[in-house]
Amino acid sequence: MALRLIKNLPAAELTAWLQAHGQAAFRLKQIRDWLYSRWAIDFVAMGNLPTALRQALTDDFLAFGLEPLETQTADDDTVKWLFRLVDGESIETVLIRAPDRQTVCISTQVGCPVRCTFCASGRDGLIRDLEPGEIVDQVIAACRHLQQRVDNIVVMGMGEPLLNLEHLIAALDLICGPECLGVGARHITISTSGIVPGIRRLAELRRQWHLALSLHALTDEQRGRLIPARYRYPLAEILDACRYYRECTGRIVTLEYALMAGGNDSQDDALGLAALARRLDAKINLIPCNPVSEHYQAPAERQVRAFEERVRSLGAKVTLRQRKGERIQAACGQLRRRTPAAAERPDQASPE
Ligand code: SAH
Ligand code: SF4
Repeated sequence: MALRLIKNLPAAELTAWLQAHGQAAFRLKQIRDWLYSRWAIDFVAMGNLPTALRQALTDDFLAFGLEPLETQTADDDTVKWLFRLVDGESIETVLIRAPDRQTVCISTQVGCPVRCTFCASGRDGLIRDLEPGEIVDQVIAACRHLQQRVDNIVVMGMGEPLLNLEHLIAALDLICGPECLGVGARHITISTSGIVPGIRRLAELRRQWHLALSLHALTDEQRGRLIPARYRYPLAEILDACRYYRECTGRIVTLEYALMAGGNDSQDDALGLAALARRLDAKINLIPCNPVSEHYQAPAERQVRAFEERVRSLGAKVTLRQRKGERIQAACGQLRRRTPAAAERPDQASPE
């Protein structure tokens, strides 16, 4: 039987395990210190624990659940990893380096059940949810690489985080918990394609996490061309849920808008987007679309700038996100698609 990742265990279970092994309660703090402050990847390294305890931990648990299969670094210091999970599946994690802050972009699922037509992650549908420990270990890997704690976390890698919500919450509690990684809640951004029950559940937790909605289109009809029906909610319900999130947490929502030439980049789109953002008091993040399929291309740079200017002139708060790490295929799901396991799967992309 495969060993359990120790980070998947609720604190009470680990405490009970320590008791059953005749260990004092302070060992929990020591173990956490190794896992979350020193980013240990095995129990043998935990020098201040008795040898017998290190052996018992090794017999029962895994300290770290990822094995790097590929590491790519771009000129701008973006690092992208393809990690192998214990069961042989693979996920992607990206570290985006800037002089003043280190951001890690993490995955929450292997594949994605939503299957947006412009996204590489959803091509094969959902393979499986990530466990809390597998989500946290992506952050640990980035900390180990930097030899410092990361500053920001964006949940924008593979998968729809709000369709693996319980594991996401457990992982974020470890990432934010002062006794674990201790990253400030305001430094976490969760991006969703618009899963209404998930947005409402998150709102009611009243954490200070930042919510980003992948809007990309301004009518249900236009969105219907990008997102298959199964997990697509009516825009009005999504916007209501975002308003509720704002009310419950006090935090401004971000609207992600991937510009697609001839798809959502018209003057009317700019007008609609600015109006919607103003109504919601949201800020807009424009992203030139990554061309993962021949059907979607980013508009020319001049047009991207013109769209940005138009939205701004209409009174909305807007930023243009530079495409970092394009050369290393940093768009989510692109790297994993090149692995042998993924190549064996039939291409199932099918807009509904
Ligand atoms: N499933 C979540 C989070 C992961 S995707 C979501 O959809 O929000 C992270 C971001 O990448 C989303 O805003 C998504 O719309 C965007 N994205 C996916 N494929 C893209 C592409 N080809 N070009 C630009 N952005 C893309
Ligand atoms: Fe899934 Fe997000 Fe990609 Fe859509 S854009 S398929 S929701 S990862």
